[in-house]
Amino acid sequence: MVIDSRAKLNGKREKATKMVETKRIKLHIFLPSGRKVWTAVGSDGDHLLNVSQPYCSCRDFHFRYLTDKDEECYHLLALKMAFRSKKYDTIEFQDEEYVFFIRGLLEEIPHEK
Ligand SMILES: [Zn+2]
Repeated sequence: MVIDSRAKLNGKREKATKMVETKRIKLHIFLPSGRKVWTAVGSDGDHLLNVSQPYCSCRDFHFRYLTDKDEECYHLLALKMAFRSKKYDTIEFQDEEYVFFIRGLLEEIPHEK
């Protein structure tokens, strides 16, 4: 199954590269605290990202990462690539907006029925 997983990885890299090239990785900085929130603007909404956890709020991550430990979604891969090449948008917010911002993002997380 080596070929299969390699093809899968290439597909993921391709998607991640495209995402970085089109500047769909965003860094939101909340001021004055300097708190940082990363998101990826996907085809099915915005996704909340956290590399150190690692965590992504997309469906792929929820259903796959949690069952297969070394599976990371292409958003996380894109974030790492964007960070390395500094190809991301930085948007500044006020700290008061933080809760509304996070709440808005979390509403897009797929819920299990
Ligand atoms: Zn994701």
